[in-house]
Amino acid sequence: MVQNILDYLEATAADCPDKPAFEDLEHSYTFAQVLGNAKRIGSALIHVLPQNAPVPVLMEKEAWTLNVFMGAVCAGCFYTLVEPEQPDERIRTILDTLEAEVIVTSGKLSERVAALGFTGKVLLAEELVESVIDEEALASRRKMACDIDPLYAIFTSGSTGVPKGVVVSHRSVIDFTEHFTRIFGFSREDVIGNQAPFDFDVSVKDIYTSIFTGAKLVLIPKQMFSMPPSLLDFLCEKHVTSLTWAVSALCMVTTLRGFEYRVPSEVRRVLFSGEVMPYKHLKAWREALPAAEFVNLYGPTEIVCNCTYYRVRGDEPEDAALPIGSAFGNRLVFLLDDQNCVIRDAGIQGEICVAGTSLASGYYNNPQATEKSFVQNPENQSYPQVIYRTGDIGTYNDEGLLCFAGRRDFQVKRMGHRIELEEIQLTLDQTEGVTRSCCIYGEQEQKLVAFYVGEIDKKELRRKVKEQMPAFMLPDKFLHMDEMPMTKNGKIDRAALWNHYREEKRR
Ligand code: AMP
Repeated sequence: MVQNILDYLEATAADCPDKPAFEDLEHSYTFAQVLGNAKRIGSALIHVLPQNAPVPVLMEKEAWTLNVFMGAVCAGCFYTLVEPEQPDERIRTILDTLEAEVIVTSGKLSERVAALGFTGKVLLAEELVESVIDEEALASRRKMACDIDPLYAIFTSGSTGVPKGVVVSHRSVIDFTEHFTRIFGFSREDVIGNQAPFDFDVSVKDIYTSIFTGAKLVLIPKQMFSMPPSLLDFLCEKHVTSLTWAVSALCMVTTLRGFEYRVPSEVRRVLFSGEVMPYKHLKAWREALPAAEFVNLYGPTEIVCNCTYYRVRGDEPEDAALPIGSAFGNRLVFLLDDQNCVIRDAGIQGEICVAGTSLASGYYNNPQATEKSFVQNPENQSYPQVIYRTGDIGTYNDEGLLCFAGRRDFQVKRMGHRIELEEIQLTLDQTEGVTRSCCIYGEQEQKLVAFYVGEIDKKELRRKVKEQMPAFMLPDKFLHMDEMPMTKNGKIDRAALWNHYREEKRR
Protein backbone atom coordinates (compact mmCIF):
# COMPACT_ATOMS: atom_id res chain seq x y z
CA MET A 1 0.00 0.00 0.00
CA VAL A 2 1.29 3.44 -0.92
CA GLN A 3 1.98 5.42 2.25
CA ASN A 4 4.34 8.09 1.10
CA ILE A 5 4.50 10.00 -2.16
CA LEU A 6 8.13 8.84 -2.42
CA ASP A 7 6.70 5.38 -3.12
CA TYR A 8 5.32 6.88 -6.35
CA LEU A 9 8.56 8.59 -7.23
CA GLU A 10 10.61 5.45 -6.63
CA ALA A 11 8.22 3.27 -8.63
CA THR A 12 8.20 5.66 -11.59
CA ALA A 13 11.98 6.16 -11.45
CA ALA A 14 12.37 2.37 -11.53
CA ASP A 15 9.88 1.93 -14.41
CA CYS A 16 11.13 4.71 -16.65
CA PRO A 17 14.36 6.14 -15.17
CA ASP A 18 15.38 8.06 -18.28
CA LYS A 19 12.04 9.60 -19.08
CA PRO A 20 11.95 13.38 -18.55
CA ALA A 21 9.96 14.24 -15.44
CA PHE A 22 10.21 18.01 -15.04
CA GLU A 23 11.28 20.47 -17.69
CA ASP A 24 11.58 24.24 -18.04
CA LEU A 25 13.11 26.44 -20.73
CA GLU A 26 16.64 25.65 -19.62
CA HIS A 27 16.66 22.34 -17.80
CA SER A 28 15.16 18.91 -17.94
CA TYR A 29 15.38 16.25 -15.22
CA THR A 30 14.60 12.58 -15.70
CA PHE A 31 12.76 10.65 -12.99
CA ALA A 32 16.03 8.95 -11.99
CA GLN A 33 17.75 12.33 -11.71
CA VAL A 34 14.92 13.77 -9.60
CA LEU A 35 15.14 10.82 -7.24
CA GLY A 36 18.94 11.06 -7.03
CA ASN A 37 18.85 14.81 -6.39
CA ALA A 38 16.08 14.40 -3.82
CA LYS A 39 18.09 11.77 -1.94
CA ARG A 40 21.21 13.95 -1.91
CA ILE A 41 19.32 17.03 -0.73
CA GLY A 42 17.37 14.92 1.77
CA SER A 43 20.57 13.40 3.17
CA ALA A 44 21.92 16.88 3.86
CA LEU A 45 18.68 18.16 5.41
CA ILE A 46 18.39 15.19 7.75
CA HIS A 47 21.44 16.47 9.62
CA VAL A 48 19.88 19.89 10.11
CA LEU A 49 16.17 19.28 10.72
CA PRO A 50 14.00 16.92 12.75
CA GLN A 51 11.30 14.75 11.16
CA ASN A 52 8.19 16.66 10.01
CA ALA A 53 9.92 20.06 10.20
CA PRO A 54 8.90 22.73 7.69
CA VAL A 55 11.26 23.49 4.83
CA PRO A 56 10.49 26.92 3.36
CA VAL A 57 11.79 26.88 -0.20
CA LEU A 58 12.40 30.41 -1.40
CA MET A 59 12.98 29.72 -5.05
CA GLU A 60 11.64 30.63 -8.43
CA LYS A 61 9.30 28.51 -10.49
CA GLU A 62 11.85 26.21 -12.10
CA ALA A 63 12.09 22.47 -12.71
CA TRP A 64 15.00 22.47 -10.25
CA THR A 65 12.69 23.69 -7.46
CA LEU A 66 10.66 20.48 -7.74
CA ASN A 67 13.83 18.47 -7.05
CA VAL A 68 14.25 20.52 -3.87
CA PHE A 69 10.65 19.80 -2.80
CA MET A 70 11.35 16.09 -3.16
CA GLY A 71 14.57 16.55 -1.18
CA ALA A 72 12.61 18.00 1.73
CA VAL A 73 10.25 15.01 1.54
CA CYS A 74 13.18 12.52 1.50
CA ALA A 75 14.35 14.11 4.76
CA GLY A 76 10.94 13.30 6.26
CA CYS A 77 10.04 17.00 6.27
CA PHE A 78 7.42 19.07 4.43
CA TYR A 79 7.95 21.92 1.99
CA THR A 80 6.39 25.34 1.52
CA LEU A 81 7.13 27.34 -1.57
CA VAL A 82 7.87 30.93 -0.60
CA GLU A 83 7.41 33.04 -3.69
CA PRO A 84 10.41 35.47 -3.79
CA GLU A 85 8.40 38.30 -5.34
CA GLN A 86 6.07 38.63 -2.35
CA PRO A 87 6.50 41.63 -0.04
CA ASP A 88 9.03 41.12 2.79
CA GLU A 89 6.32 41.45 5.41
CA ARG A 90 4.26 38.60 4.02
CA ILE A 91 7.32 36.36 3.74
CA ARG A 92 8.24 37.13 7.37
CA THR A 93 4.70 36.23 8.49
CA ILE A 94 4.97 32.92 6.65
CA LEU A 95 8.37 32.14 8.18
CA ASP A 96 7.14 33.14 11.65
CA THR A 97 4.02 31.01 11.32
CA LEU A 98 6.17 28.04 10.32
CA GLU A 99 8.66 28.83 13.12
CA ALA A 100 11.17 28.07 10.39
CA GLU A 101 14.69 27.14 11.41
CA VAL A 102 16.02 27.14 7.86
CA ILE A 103 15.32 28.59 4.44
CA VAL A 104 16.38 26.67 1.36
CA THR A 105 17.16 28.98 -1.53
CA SER A 106 19.56 29.34 -4.45
CA GLY A 107 22.68 31.50 -4.69
CA LYS A 108 21.08 33.91 -7.16
CA LEU A 109 18.45 34.78 -4.52
CA SER A 110 20.90 35.33 -1.64
CA GLU A 111 20.34 39.08 -1.65
CA ARG A 112 16.59 38.60 -1.60
CA VAL A 113 16.92 36.39 1.49
CA ALA A 114 19.38 38.78 3.15
CA ALA A 115 16.77 41.57 2.89
CA LEU A 116 14.41 39.54 5.10
CA GLY A 117 16.68 39.65 8.15
CA PHE A 118 16.05 35.94 8.73
CA THR A 119 17.93 34.72 11.80
CA GLY A 120 17.85 30.98 11.02
CA LYS A 121 20.11 29.03 8.66
CA VAL A 122 20.09 29.86 4.98
CA LEU A 123 20.90 26.76 2.94
CA LEU A 124 21.73 26.83 -0.74
CA ALA A 125 20.07 24.07 -2.77
CA GLU A 126 23.03 23.84 -5.12
CA GLU A 127 25.26 23.05 -2.13
CA LEU A 128 22.82 20.60 -0.54
CA VAL A 129 22.74 18.55 -3.73
CA GLU A 130 26.50 18.06 -3.53
CA SER A 131 26.03 15.86 -0.43
CA VAL A 132 26.66 12.13 -0.47
CA ILE A 133 23.51 9.99 -0.27
CA ASP A 134 23.15 8.59 3.25
CA GLU A 135 20.91 5.56 2.58
CA GLU A 136 20.88 4.54 6.21
CA ALA A 137 19.70 7.92 7.48
CA LEU A 138 17.08 8.16 4.72
CA ALA A 139 15.78 4.69 5.52
CA SER A 140 15.52 5.44 9.21
CA ARG A 141 13.50 8.62 8.53
CA ARG A 142 11.26 6.67 6.20
CA LYS A 143 10.71 4.00 8.82
CA MET A 144 9.45 6.62 11.24
CA ALA A 145 7.17 8.19 8.60
CA CYS A 146 3.45 7.69 8.46
CA ASP A 147 0.86 8.69 5.87
CA ILE A 148 -0.66 11.46 7.99
CA ASP A 149 2.70 13.27 8.04
CA PRO A 150 2.60 16.64 6.31
CA LEU A 151 3.77 16.76 2.69
CA TYR A 152 3.43 20.49 2.04
CA ALA A 153 1.85 23.67 3.35
CA ILE A 154 0.31 26.28 1.08
CA PHE A 155 -0.36 29.76 2.41
CA THR A 156 -3.67 31.30 1.43
CA SER A 157 -4.46 34.96 1.89
CA GLY A 158 -7.05 34.52 4.67
CA SER A 159 -10.00 36.82 5.22
CA THR A 160 -8.20 38.77 7.94
CA GLY A 161 -5.31 39.40 5.58
CA VAL A 162 -3.03 37.17 7.69
CA PRO A 163 -1.82 34.25 5.59
CA LYS A 164 -2.93 30.83 6.79
CA GLY A 165 -0.78 27.77 6.08
CA VAL A 166 -2.95 24.90 4.86
CA VAL A 167 -1.13 21.69 5.85
CA VAL A 168 -1.67 18.70 3.61
CA SER A 169 -0.63 15.11 4.36
CA HIS A 170 0.81 12.44 2.11
CA ARG A 171 -2.41 10.45 2.51
CA SER A 172 -4.59 13.31 1.22
CA VAL A 173 -2.50 13.74 -1.91
CA ILE A 174 -2.26 9.99 -2.54
CA ASP A 175 -6.02 9.62 -2.19
CA PHE A 176 -6.78 12.54 -4.48
CA THR A 177 -4.13 11.79 -7.11
CA GLU A 178 -5.20 8.19 -7.57
CA HIS A 179 -8.80 9.22 -8.27
CA PHE A 180 -7.83 12.22 -10.37
CA THR A 181 -5.40 10.41 -12.67
CA ARG A 182 -7.69 7.42 -13.14
CA ILE A 183 -10.87 9.40 -13.84
CA PHE A 184 -9.22 11.57 -16.49
CA GLY A 185 -7.04 8.81 -17.91
CA PHE A 186 -3.61 10.38 -17.48
CA SER A 187 -0.75 8.23 -18.72
CA ARG A 188 2.98 8.23 -19.28
CA GLU A 189 2.35 9.51 -22.80
CA ASP A 190 0.91 12.77 -21.51
CA VAL A 191 2.75 16.07 -21.55
CA ILE A 192 1.31 18.39 -18.92
CA GLY A 193 1.64 22.13 -19.49
CA ASN A 194 1.95 23.65 -16.02
CA GLN A 195 0.47 27.12 -15.55
CA ALA A 196 -0.10 27.38 -11.80
CA PRO A 197 2.54 28.77 -9.45
CA PHE A 198 3.90 26.27 -6.92
CA ASP A 199 2.26 28.08 -4.01
CA PHE A 200 -1.17 27.53 -5.57
CA ASP A 201 -2.73 24.11 -5.11
CA VAL A 202 -3.61 23.72 -8.79
CA SER A 203 0.11 22.92 -9.24
CA VAL A 204 -0.23 19.96 -6.84
CA LYS A 205 -2.28 18.16 -9.50
CA ASP A 206 0.43 18.78 -12.11
CA ILE A 207 3.32 17.68 -9.91
CA TYR A 208 1.82 14.48 -8.52
CA THR A 209 0.10 13.43 -11.74
CA SER A 210 3.54 13.48 -13.31
CA ILE A 211 5.21 11.61 -10.45
CA PHE A 212 2.38 9.08 -10.25
CA THR A 213 1.92 8.31 -13.95
CA GLY A 214 5.31 9.14 -15.47
CA ALA A 215 3.84 11.96 -17.58
CA LYS A 216 6.21 14.81 -18.41
CA LEU A 217 5.60 18.12 -16.67
CA VAL A 218 6.60 21.15 -18.70
CA LEU A 219 6.68 24.47 -16.83
CA ILE A 220 5.30 27.33 -18.88
CA PRO A 221 7.12 30.62 -18.22
CA LYS A 222 4.88 33.12 -16.44
CA GLN A 223 5.42 35.90 -18.96
CA MET A 224 3.86 33.79 -21.73
CA PHE A 225 0.49 34.24 -20.05
CA SER A 226 0.27 37.74 -21.45
CA MET A 227 1.55 36.77 -24.91
CA PRO A 228 -0.72 34.18 -26.56
CA PRO A 229 1.47 33.67 -29.67
CA SER A 230 4.52 32.62 -27.65
CA LEU A 231 2.31 30.57 -25.31
CA LEU A 232 0.66 28.73 -28.20
CA ASP A 233 3.99 28.20 -29.99
CA PHE A 234 5.33 26.76 -26.74
CA LEU A 235 2.37 24.39 -26.28
CA CYS A 236 2.76 23.15 -29.87
CA GLU A 237 6.53 22.80 -29.77
CA LYS A 238 6.42 20.90 -26.48
CA HIS A 239 3.60 18.64 -27.74
CA VAL A 240 1.48 19.47 -24.68
CA THR A 241 -1.53 17.17 -24.32
CA SER A 242 -3.07 18.31 -21.05
CA LEU A 243 -3.85 21.61 -19.36
CA THR A 244 -4.97 21.99 -15.76
CA TRP A 245 -5.25 25.76 -15.61
CA ALA A 246 -6.94 28.58 -13.76
CA VAL A 247 -10.01 29.92 -15.57
CA SER A 248 -8.39 33.31 -16.18
CA ALA A 249 -5.39 31.75 -17.94
CA LEU A 250 -7.77 30.12 -20.43
CA CYS A 251 -9.74 33.36 -20.79
CA MET A 252 -6.57 35.30 -21.57
CA VAL A 253 -5.97 33.15 -24.66
CA THR A 254 -9.48 33.70 -26.00
CA THR A 255 -9.69 37.39 -25.03
CA LEU A 256 -6.53 38.09 -27.02
CA ARG A 257 -7.83 35.94 -29.89
CA GLY A 258 -4.91 33.52 -29.60
CA PHE A 259 -6.53 30.79 -31.70
CA GLU A 260 -6.52 33.04 -34.76
CA TYR A 261 -2.75 32.69 -34.58
CA ARG A 262 -2.33 28.99 -33.75
CA VAL A 263 -4.24 26.08 -32.21
CA PRO A 264 -2.37 23.69 -29.89
CA SER A 265 -3.97 20.71 -31.60
CA GLU A 266 -2.31 18.01 -29.50
CA VAL A 267 -4.14 19.21 -26.37
CA ARG A 268 -6.82 16.63 -25.60
CA ARG A 269 -7.72 17.49 -22.02
CA VAL A 270 -8.50 20.92 -20.56
CA LEU A 271 -9.31 21.00 -16.85
CA PHE A 272 -10.13 24.34 -15.26
CA SER A 273 -10.92 25.65 -11.80
CA GLY A 274 -10.71 28.59 -9.44
CA GLU A 275 -13.57 30.73 -10.71
CA VAL A 276 -16.76 30.40 -12.71
CA MET A 277 -15.82 29.69 -16.33
CA PRO A 278 -17.51 32.28 -18.57
CA TYR A 279 -19.49 30.40 -21.21
CA LYS A 280 -18.24 32.57 -24.07
CA HIS A 281 -14.63 31.63 -23.40
CA LEU A 282 -15.43 27.96 -22.93
CA LYS A 283 -17.22 27.97 -26.27
CA ALA A 284 -14.22 29.49 -28.05
CA TRP A 285 -11.90 26.86 -26.53
CA ARG A 286 -14.24 24.03 -27.49
CA GLU A 287 -14.49 25.31 -31.04
CA ALA A 288 -10.69 25.45 -31.29
CA LEU A 289 -10.25 21.97 -29.79
CA PRO A 290 -13.40 20.03 -30.73
CA ALA A 291 -11.92 16.63 -29.85
CA ALA A 292 -10.65 17.65 -26.41
CA GLU A 293 -12.35 16.90 -23.13
CA PHE A 294 -13.25 19.93 -20.98
CA VAL A 295 -13.80 19.58 -17.25
CA ASN A 296 -14.94 22.01 -14.58
CA LEU A 297 -13.12 21.24 -11.31
CA TYR A 298 -14.18 22.72 -8.01
CA GLY A 299 -12.73 23.03 -4.53
CA PRO A 300 -10.72 25.22 -2.17
CA THR A 301 -7.12 24.52 -1.10
CA GLU A 302 -8.35 23.16 2.26
CA ILE A 303 -10.10 20.18 0.71
CA VAL A 304 -6.91 19.46 -1.32
CA CYS A 305 -7.19 20.30 -5.00
CA ASN A 306 -10.77 19.43 -5.93
CA CYS A 307 -13.76 17.65 -4.47
CA THR A 308 -16.13 17.73 -7.46
CA TYR A 309 -15.82 17.62 -11.24
CA TYR A 310 -18.09 18.08 -14.21
CA ARG A 311 -17.32 16.88 -17.73
CA VAL A 312 -18.63 19.44 -20.20
CA ARG A 313 -21.15 17.81 -22.53
CA GLY A 314 -21.83 20.70 -24.85
CA ASP A 315 -25.59 20.93 -24.31
CA GLU A 316 -25.39 23.19 -21.24
CA PRO A 317 -27.60 26.29 -21.27
CA GLU A 318 -25.63 29.47 -21.92
CA ASP A 319 -27.54 31.48 -19.35
CA ALA A 320 -26.61 29.32 -16.36
CA ALA A 321 -23.26 28.68 -14.71
CA LEU A 322 -21.69 25.31 -15.55
CA PRO A 323 -22.39 22.68 -12.90
CA ILE A 324 -19.50 21.77 -10.65
CA GLY A 325 -20.88 18.27 -10.91
CA SER A 326 -20.38 15.32 -8.61
CA ALA A 327 -17.91 14.27 -5.97
CA PHE A 328 -14.58 12.57 -6.64
CA GLY A 329 -14.36 9.05 -5.22
CA ASN A 330 -13.94 8.78 -1.45
CA ARG A 331 -15.27 12.30 -0.93
CA LEU A 332 -18.43 13.28 0.85
CA VAL A 333 -19.69 16.56 -0.59
CA PHE A 334 -22.99 17.91 0.71
CA LEU A 335 -25.01 21.06 1.36
CA LEU A 336 -25.97 22.33 4.80
CA ASP A 337 -28.69 24.91 5.34
CA ASP A 338 -28.60 27.67 7.99
CA GLN A 339 -29.92 25.20 10.57
CA ASN A 340 -27.12 22.75 9.74
CA CYS A 341 -29.52 20.31 8.11
CA VAL A 342 -28.53 18.46 4.95
CA ILE A 343 -30.24 19.68 1.78
CA ARG A 344 -31.25 16.97 -0.68
CA ASP A 345 -33.75 18.73 -2.92
CA ALA A 346 -32.97 20.61 -6.11
CA GLY A 347 -32.98 24.39 -6.17
CA ILE A 348 -32.35 25.03 -2.47
CA GLN A 349 -29.18 26.85 -1.53
CA GLY A 350 -26.79 25.73 1.19
CA GLU A 351 -23.15 25.85 2.17
CA ILE A 352 -20.93 23.34 0.38
CA CYS A 353 -19.29 21.06 2.96
CA VAL A 354 -16.72 18.34 2.39
CA ALA A 355 -15.49 15.30 4.31
CA GLY A 356 -13.13 12.46 3.48
CA THR A 357 -9.52 11.34 3.65
CA SER A 358 -8.39 14.03 1.28
CA LEU A 359 -9.17 16.98 3.55
CA ALA A 360 -6.20 19.07 4.61
CA SER A 361 -5.04 18.53 8.20
CA GLY A 362 -5.78 22.16 9.16
CA TYR A 363 -3.88 25.44 9.40
CA TYR A 364 -0.30 25.31 10.63
CA ASN A 365 0.14 26.81 14.10
CA ASN A 366 -3.36 28.26 13.96
CA PRO A 367 -5.79 26.21 16.06
CA GLN A 368 -8.40 29.01 16.20
CA ALA A 369 -8.76 29.25 12.42
CA THR A 370 -8.64 25.45 12.15
CA GLU A 371 -11.47 25.01 14.65
CA LYS A 372 -13.58 27.55 12.83
CA SER A 373 -13.55 25.85 9.44
CA PHE A 374 -12.69 22.21 10.13
CA VAL A 375 -15.64 21.26 12.33
CA GLN A 376 -17.53 18.25 13.59
CA ASN A 377 -20.11 17.02 11.09
CA PRO A 378 -23.35 18.38 12.61
CA GLU A 379 -25.16 15.35 11.18
CA ASN A 380 -23.03 12.99 13.26
CA GLN A 381 -23.29 13.14 17.04
CA SER A 382 -21.81 9.68 17.62
CA TYR A 383 -18.07 9.92 16.96
CA PRO A 384 -15.56 12.52 15.76
CA GLN A 385 -15.91 13.22 12.04
CA VAL A 386 -14.38 16.36 10.62
CA ILE A 387 -15.91 18.28 7.75
CA TYR A 388 -14.64 21.41 6.04
CA ARG A 389 -17.08 24.29 5.59
CA THR A 390 -16.08 25.89 2.30
CA GLY A 391 -17.94 29.19 2.69
CA ASP A 392 -19.26 28.57 -0.85
CA ILE A 393 -22.93 28.33 -1.67
CA GLY A 394 -24.30 25.56 -3.86
CA THR A 395 -27.54 24.06 -5.11
CA TYR A 396 -28.52 20.88 -6.94
CA ASN A 397 -29.95 21.18 -10.41
CA ASP A 398 -32.73 18.90 -11.71
CA GLU A 399 -30.20 16.27 -12.71
CA GLY A 400 -28.87 16.15 -9.15
CA LEU A 401 -25.62 17.84 -10.14
CA LEU A 402 -24.07 20.34 -7.78
CA CYS A 403 -23.97 23.95 -9.00
CA PHE A 404 -21.84 26.73 -7.57
CA ALA A 405 -23.98 29.71 -6.54
CA GLY A 406 -21.35 32.07 -5.16
CA ARG A 407 -19.22 32.78 -2.12
CA ARG A 408 -20.99 33.42 1.15
CA ASP A 409 -18.92 36.61 1.46
CA PHE A 410 -20.18 37.75 -1.97
CA GLN A 411 -23.77 37.50 -0.91
CA VAL A 412 -25.07 40.98 -0.17
CA LYS A 413 -28.30 42.48 1.09
CA ARG A 414 -29.54 45.45 -0.84
CA MET A 415 -32.92 47.13 -0.48
CA GLY A 416 -33.85 44.07 1.59
CA HIS A 417 -33.04 41.71 -1.27
CA ARG A 418 -30.38 39.05 -1.17
CA ILE A 419 -28.06 39.28 -4.16
CA GLU A 420 -25.36 36.90 -5.33
CA LEU A 421 -22.74 39.05 -6.98
CA GLU A 422 -21.80 36.14 -9.23
CA GLU A 423 -25.29 36.18 -10.70
CA ILE A 424 -24.85 39.75 -11.89
CA GLN A 425 -21.45 38.79 -13.24
CA LEU A 426 -22.97 35.93 -15.21
CA THR A 427 -25.36 38.37 -16.93
CA LEU A 428 -22.54 40.79 -17.67
CA ASP A 429 -20.32 38.03 -19.07
CA GLN A 430 -23.05 36.92 -21.44
CA THR A 431 -23.55 40.37 -22.89
CA GLU A 432 -22.12 40.88 -26.34
CA GLY A 433 -19.14 43.22 -26.23
CA VAL A 434 -18.05 42.12 -22.73
CA THR A 435 -15.03 39.85 -22.50
CA ARG A 436 -14.56 39.72 -18.73
CA SER A 437 -16.43 41.22 -15.79
CA CYS A 438 -16.64 41.39 -12.04
CA CYS A 439 -19.21 42.89 -9.72
CA ILE A 440 -18.35 44.23 -6.26
CA TYR A 441 -20.43 45.62 -3.45
CA GLY A 442 -18.93 48.34 -1.24
CA GLU A 443 -20.50 47.86 2.19
CA GLN A 444 -19.42 51.31 3.36
CA GLU A 445 -20.54 53.14 0.24
CA GLN A 446 -23.53 50.81 -0.26
CA LYS A 447 -22.69 50.77 -3.94
CA LEU A 448 -22.83 47.96 -6.43
CA VAL A 449 -20.12 48.47 -9.04
CA ALA A 450 -19.69 46.49 -12.25
CA PHE A 451 -16.20 46.39 -13.77
CA TYR A 452 -15.80 45.07 -17.28
CA VAL A 453 -13.35 44.62 -20.13
CA GLY A 454 -14.70 44.79 -23.68
CA GLU A 455 -15.64 47.12 -26.50
CA ILE A 456 -19.22 47.88 -25.41
CA ASP A 457 -20.08 51.39 -24.25
CA LYS A 458 -21.07 51.83 -20.57
CA LYS A 459 -24.51 53.24 -21.35
CA GLU A 460 -25.27 50.47 -23.80
CA LEU A 461 -24.14 47.84 -21.30
CA ARG A 462 -26.36 49.35 -18.62
CA ARG A 463 -29.32 49.32 -20.97
CA LYS A 464 -28.78 45.69 -21.91
CA VAL A 465 -28.30 44.56 -18.32
CA LYS A 466 -31.38 46.48 -17.19
CA GLU A 467 -33.47 44.47 -19.61
CA GLN A 468 -32.43 41.28 -17.88
CA MET A 469 -32.43 41.89 -14.16
CA PRO A 470 -34.59 43.44 -11.46
CA ALA A 471 -33.82 47.03 -10.43
CA PHE A 472 -32.36 46.03 -7.07
CA MET A 473 -29.68 44.01 -8.85
CA LEU A 474 -28.73 46.71 -11.33
CA PRO A 475 -25.20 48.00 -10.59
CA ASP A 476 -24.99 51.67 -9.53
CA LYS A 477 -21.94 52.16 -11.62
CA PHE A 478 -20.31 50.55 -14.64
CA LEU A 479 -16.57 50.96 -14.98
CA HIS A 480 -14.67 50.07 -18.13
CA MET A 481 -11.22 48.54 -17.58
CA ASP A 482 -8.46 48.04 -20.16
CA GLU A 483 -7.70 44.78 -18.44
CA MET A 484 -8.74 42.98 -15.28
CA PRO A 485 -6.24 43.11 -12.43
CA MET A 486 -5.31 39.56 -11.42
CA THR A 487 -3.96 38.07 -8.22
CA LYS A 488 -0.84 36.03 -8.65
CA ASN A 489 -2.97 32.90 -8.51
CA GLY A 490 -4.80 34.09 -11.58
CA LYS A 491 -8.07 35.18 -10.00
CA ILE A 492 -9.70 38.57 -10.48
CA ASP A 493 -8.14 40.88 -7.88
CA ARG A 494 -11.19 42.39 -6.14
CA ALA A 495 -9.15 44.57 -3.79
CA ALA A 496 -7.36 46.17 -6.74
CA LEU A 497 -10.71 46.77 -8.47
CA TRP A 498 -12.09 48.49 -5.42
CA ASN A 499 -9.00 50.73 -5.14
CA HIS A 500 -9.48 51.60 -8.77
CA TYR A 501 -13.11 52.57 -8.09
CA ARG A 502 -12.10 54.79 -5.14
CA GLU A 503 -9.44 56.52 -7.24
CA GLU A 504 -11.97 57.13 -10.02
CA LYS A 505 -14.31 58.68 -7.49
CA ARG A 506 -11.62 61.01 -6.17
CA ARG A 507 -10.87 62.35 -9.67
P1 AMP B 1 -8.48 28.47 -3.76
O1 AMP B 1 -8.42 27.90 -2.40
O2 AMP B 1 -7.57 29.63 -3.99
O3 AMP B 1 -8.31 27.41 -4.80
O4 AMP B 1 -9.96 29.08 -3.97
C1 AMP B 1 -11.05 28.25 -3.82
C2 AMP B 1 -12.31 29.00 -4.13
O5 AMP B 1 -12.37 29.33 -5.52
C3 AMP B 1 -13.53 28.14 -3.87
O6 AMP B 1 -13.90 28.14 -2.51
C4 AMP B 1 -14.55 28.81 -4.78
O7 AMP B 1 -15.07 29.98 -4.18
C5 AMP B 1 -13.70 29.21 -5.99
N1 AMP B 1 -13.75 28.15 -7.02
C6 AMP B 1 -12.92 27.10 -7.17
N2 AMP B 1 -13.27 26.35 -8.23
C7 AMP B 1 -14.37 26.91 -8.77
C8 AMP B 1 -15.24 26.58 -9.87
N3 AMP B 1 -15.01 25.54 -10.67
N4 AMP B 1 -16.29 27.40 -10.10
C9 AMP B 1 -16.53 28.47 -9.31
N5 AMP B 1 -15.74 28.84 -8.27
C10 AMP B 1 -14.69 28.07 -7.99
